Amino acid sequence: MLRAILNPASVAVIGASSDTLKFGGRVIRFVVDHGFGGRIVPVNPSATEVCGIAAYPSLSAAGGPIDVAVLAVPTRFIAPSLEECGKVGVKGVIVITADYAEVGAEGKVRQDELVAIARRHGIRLIGPNCLGFINPHLALALTSSVALAPKPMPKGDIGIVSQSGSVMASMITNARDVGAGVSVAASIGNQADLELCDFIEYFADDPLTRSIAIYAEGLLDGKRFIGAARRCREAGKPLVIAKSGATEAGSRLTQSHTASLAGAHPVFEAVCRDEAVCLVDDPERAVMAAHVLARFGAPDGDGLAVLSPSGGTVAVAADRVIRAGLRIAELSASTAARLRQYIPPTRPLNPLEFGGLATDKSFEVNTEALGWLRADPNVAAVLLAAASAPQVDAKIKRWGEIALAGEKPVVLALCPGSLVDRGRADLRALGCPFVNRMDDAIGVLRAIVDYGHALRRSRPNVQRPSAFGDVKAVADRLGGGTLTEHEAKSLLAAAGVPVTREAQRAPTEDLAAAAAEIGFPVALKVVSRQVSHKSDAGGVQIGLADEHAVRAAAATIRDNVAQRAPGAIVEGFLVQEMARGELEVIVGSRWDAQFGAVVMVGLGGIYVELLGDVQLALAPVAHAQALAMLGALAGWPLIGGVRGRPRLDSDALADAIVRLSWLAAELGPRLLEFDANPVLLRRAGEGLIAVDARATLA
Ligand code: ADP
Ligand code: MG
Repeated sequence: MLRAILNPASVAVIGASSDTLKFGGRVIRFVVDHGFGGRIVPVNPSATEVCGIAAYPSLSAAGGPIDVAVLAVPTRFIAPSLEECGKVGVKGVIVITADYAEVGAEGKVRQDELVAIARRHGIRLIGPNCLGFINPHLALALTSSVALAPKPMPKGDIGIVSQSGSVMASMITNARDVGAGVSVAASIGNQADLELCDFIEYFADDPLTRSIAIYAEGLLDGKRFIGAARRCREAGKPLVIAKSGATEAGSRLTQSHTASLAGAHPVFEAVCRDEAVCLVDDPERAVMAAHVLARFGAPDGDGLAVLSPSGGTVAVAADRVIRAGLRIAELSASTAARLRQYIPPTRPLNPLEFGGLATDKSFEVNTEALGWLRADPNVAAVLLAAASAPQVDAKIKRWGEIALAGEKPVVLALCPGSLVDRGRADLRALGCPFVNRMDDAIGVLRAIVDYGHALRRSRPNVQRPSAFGDVKAVADRLGGGTLTEHEAKSLLAAAGVPVTREAQRAPTEDLAAAAAEIGFPVALKVVSRQVSHKSDAGGVQIGLADEHAVRAAAATIRDNVAQRAPGAIVEGFLVQEMARGELEVIVGSRWDAQFGAVVMVGLGGIYVELLGDVQLALAPVAHAQALAMLGALAGWPLIGGVRGRPRLDSDALADAIVRLSWLAAELGPRLLEFDANPVLLRRAGEGLIAVDARATLA
């Protein structure tokens, strides 16, 4: 159905006029001016002709078949127009008009009405509140955006989808500017009916599309998004996404560190990493990266060659590469020998400054060095930064030819501003990707290297661990709401994660006897559902050596809590063995409305939010995946062993991540959030122990 809508034989514009200050005026003007070859039907009750074409007073007067109709009329005419589309058998309707769900509850009611009408007639809707789509292969611009005034449209193989109409328009212009072409670009507005994933799936199957660039604000259906991403991957089509919302202030009230650290955007990023979706910072870069990936494919490693005719420029480029965490490749001996024939021994070979050579082969070396470096087996991608140099235009053109003749990604950074406009025009004509600023070059390289890495990672074999108890039965027994530490630990223990030996006692019971049974020294903690961060309320005393210390600690805790958490109901005390470990870590989980159960690991115990060093994945995870999460922590050396510090038990920590991920996956939406914090991690082979836990059940 979407194929028929995006590749129509006939289009109608309802609200067409000769006034290009109006939405409908611009749409019909672009349809006519770009030279769409199919049937064009302007509908306007008070005009017999629009843009030189016979107009009709109504769609019924024009008669079918009509594949697509654009509704560019005031809100009150939308519903009746849609009914009329239904009578004529229109397949798809674009509603440009705004004033729907985006303005609130009342608008949402209007929007639901539209969808109901469309469903009744078997019509699919794009929008409302959108700017339509373009299909340059049919010379069809069904949009009101002024970005379509220049002719012709950039025709090519990048599929573009944007939630925002004006961002779609900018992406089309961005594509034109860098010599990229578009298969279809669509803006989806409120996604009342057709949504982002419908378009991603279309592009995955579309023979004219080689890569996909998306701008999204939110997802309607996380699971469907994962399915669509997998379809792109199977079709060998890079899916590049810029998503806004990275800085959303955590608006939900949460008790746990996991919930505050594993917000919607970090979860989305984790999903993209696991599903090999290429993530970029902004829509322009989505177009650039999609262009580079369409031309060259993904890098098959992370070694970069960095070169420029200018020593200054290459120094800047190399600095930026390193700062972005990218790697400059070690060249093979044969590449080095070839370059050394021309490059003075004082200069390094990668990063390479190849300008200012005192040789009659200077021009040749200046142009061919790109190919020599790219051919090196240790090089996965190349960054060539242009600089103002003699014959710069001729060189840029040749670089473009060399770049396109190979399969490894080459990012040409045309930094010298307007001086190289000629070079830009040549690269556009060749269809060779380029960027204008170092920042974009680095951003694109970072994104495609990560993407290549994600593609090479094999799909993990996720298996339920052995000795995993009936966590659902435990949860049933616990009921709902905020759990106490001891209750939360019973879930952990059922999942097979080691927890402290401990006993909970009522305020009046004998704590000393319980402590003696557990064995000194002990920790003593307040038990109160109103006190979620116990030490903040002075509710934790550790290292209590004897009965006397335990009694004194109980009195102190009682006083502290009465003062710092007035009104909190003290259910009792938790007497607990003192545990030891080398490093405090957090393992947590959260139920995400979009993607489901998410598991998190982070460093720092109580400092986790300060450090922000966490890794997320959709639950459940496999052991190898959990190890990869640990390896991706900035503080991984603290676990893996650094500067004489012992290597810690990463296997035990990975196992705890796997178990908590299964706990989260099995309890599903019932387990809203879970923190095991801290978990004390011991030396390799010595395991770990959870000394605190916090959970909320629905
Ligand atoms: P909170 O509710 O404040 O997070 P915790 O139970 O995590 O309370 O205790 C605070 C800190 O005290 C922990 O981060 C840990 O460093 C230490 N601690 C708590 N219980 C134990 C224990 N059983 N053994 C060793 N240290 C402990
Ligand atoms: Mg704690």
